[in-house]
Amino acid sequence: MDPLDTRFADCLHHATHRRQPGEPFEPAIVNTAIYALPGDPQGPYQYARWANPTWTGLEEVLGRLEDAEALIFPSGMAAVASVLYSQLRPGDQVLLPSDGYYTVRTAAEKFLAPMGVRVRTCATAAVEREALDGVRMVWVETPSNPGLDLADVRAVAQRARQAGALLVVDNTTMTPLGQRPLELGADVVVSSDTKAVNGHSDTLFGHVASRNADVMAGVRDWRRVCGAIPGAFETWLVQRGLDTLELRLARMCDSAQHLAERLARHPKVRAVRYPGLASHPAHELARRQMRRFGALIGITLADAPAAERFIDGCRYVRAATSFGGLHSSAERRARWGEAVADGYVRFSVGCEPTEALWRDVEQALDALAG
Ligand code: PLP
Repeated sequence: MDPLDTRFADCLHHATHRRQPGEPFEPAIVNTAIYALPGDPQGPYQYARWANPTWTGLEEVLGRLEDAEALIFPSGMAAVASVLYSQLRPGDQVLLPSDGYYTVRTAAEKFLAPMGVRVRTCATAAVEREALDGVRMVWVETPSNPGLDLADVRAVAQRARQAGALLVVDNTTMTPLGQRPLELGADVVVSSDTKAVNGHSDTLFGHVASRNADVMAGVRDWRRVCGAIPGAFETWLVQRGLDTLELRLARMCDSAQHLAERLARHPKVRAVRYPGLASHPAHELARRQMRRFGALIGITLADAPAAERFIDGCRYVRAATSFGGLHSSAERRARWGEAVADGYVRFSVGCEPTEALWRDVEQALDALAG
């Protein structure tokens, strides 16, 4: 049996805690700013910017899933920022993906560069060949958002280690069930749990996981001192969302494969980008590195109006700028100025019954002119 199945089953039972008679099954939402703290401060709960029992519950579950220490944050960007700001110092060099989630580059260029951190970028598909001399941190997002290019995490990890650099992998597009960057040699994983980990599009969230105690001490200190902390209710929502991650991801990725294959044959579609298709330039790497091929498909249509008409013509696809939710969603990424074709649609496959979703997508494509 796949050991990750046991790991996830443990998570579902909230770390296999045997409950006392009368003890609630579900975690408590502890809304407090302070704790009783007489005399010399002691115990894990002293002030609520530092720790909260609802966070502890989710961190235990995420830690078990990641097989590493995990710390939670109120958004994916808060998780990203905790790693960048706690680990980089003036004079350090960071290598970021030029084609990954653009706000990570914005954060580095806007706030880190003026403090003396050198920010370099390179394409996801080229990072394993990039010179790493003098680099303190390599940041990889695979598959990248929005272009769905892949980086070979094992190869980059080896080169990063030789160069003395930390390798951080943004695993948002895959989740810990779809891809295991720490097992491939990455030092740190960050995730926007706003996407599939929570999966219900009702809260922003994020986490950082690592087996490197020094890195985690820095990340924990950053959160404690700078105050980027999640609310107890949002934490509870994510814990509930996580319980169905395995089910949702299985449906989403299976449907994505079906849709990608059919989209590739549709006459109105110019190109399809999906790691599970043999036509993907890194399909062989995807087979080695990913446990699933993901729920994101890149669909190139004739032009921007065709892309907008397609999205508008689907009943079961929400026009929105996010992905990983149980409702399918799509957007034309060039609307944010990203370096993709005008007609490129990032399509996030949700949990709708596969045939109903395909028929909906097919009729919207059929209705396009030309
Ligand atoms: N990383 C990736 C790959 C993302 O796509 C996003 C958001 O879309 C983030 C990080 C940031 O996450 P959040 O929006 O939860 O701050």
